Amino acid sequence: MDKAKNENRTFNIAIDGPSGSGKSSLAKRLAAHYGFVYIDTGALYRTIGLFIQKKGFASDDTEAIVSVLDEIDISMRLIDGKGEVLLFGEPVGDEIRTPKSSVYASDVSKIPEVRTFLLNLQRDIAAKNNTIMDGRDIGTVILPDAQVKIFLYASNEERARRRYLELCQKGIKTDYRTVLEDIIWRDKNDREREIAPAIPAEDAIMLDNSALDLDGTVEAAARIIDERLKK
Ligand code: C5P
Repeated sequence: MDKAKNENRTFNIAIDGPSGSGKSSLAKRLAAHYGFVYIDTGALYRTIGLFIQKKGFASDDTEAIVSVLDEIDISMRLIDGKGEVLLFGEPVGDEIRTPKSSVYASDVSKIPEVRTFLLNLQRDIAAKNNTIMDGRDIGTVILPDAQVKIFLYASNEERARRRYLELCQKGIKTDYRTVLEDIIWRDKNDREREIAPAIPAEDAIMLDNSALDLDGTVEAAARIIDERLKK
C-alpha cells in the first residue's frame, strides 16, 4: 500500500476470467484486504443489456443498440469501497443478474461502440483509485499497465455449480443444466468475439481454482499480489 501511495500513480489489479470462475468473490475479498476499490465491470455491460432489453430490442440488433447508446446515462459511484452502477442516477439491482440479462450482456459486449462507450468510465476510476477490477479484458485492453494481472479459471462443471448455487441464493429460478449450457455458450461468445476477446493477457498469471475454495483462492491471489507489492 505505501508503495502505491509513494508512486505518483495508482496501483491496479486486473482479475479476468470466464463467468463463474469466482472473480467477483475473490476481488471483493482482496479489495477489503488491501483497502482498494472493487469494480465489477460486468455490471456495466449487464446494465447496458438491461436498458436494451427494456427498449424491446433484440440482443443482437446491433444497429438499433448503437443508435440509442447516446441516450444512456450510466455512471459509477463509490460506496463502501465498491463501485455501484447507476443508470439515470439510480442504482441498478439484481435485475441485471438474471440468465436473460447475462445473454444480453454478452451480446451487447461484442459491439465495438459499446466497449468504447464504457472504456473511459473504467479507466477514469482506475486512474483515481487503487482498484481491483474484474472483467474479461481488463489486463488486455482497459488497464494494459495494471501492476498485477490474474486470469482466474475453473472447469465448466465447477463454474456452473457455483453459478447455480448463487442464482438459487438470489431466488432466481433456474436449473443446473441450463446454467451449464449458458456458461458454455457465454464463454464461446466472449472468447471468440473479434473485439476484446476474453483471453488472458500475455503477462497474466494463470490461476486455476477448480479445486480451491474461496479462502484458498484468496490466499493464492494474495501471494501473487504481495510479491508484486514488494518489488
Ligand atoms: O462478469 P459478468 O458475467 O457479470 O459479465 C457479463 C458479460 O459482460 C460477460 O459475459 C461478457 O460478455 C461481458 N463483459 C465483457 N467485458 C468485461 C466484463 C464483462 O465483455 N470487462
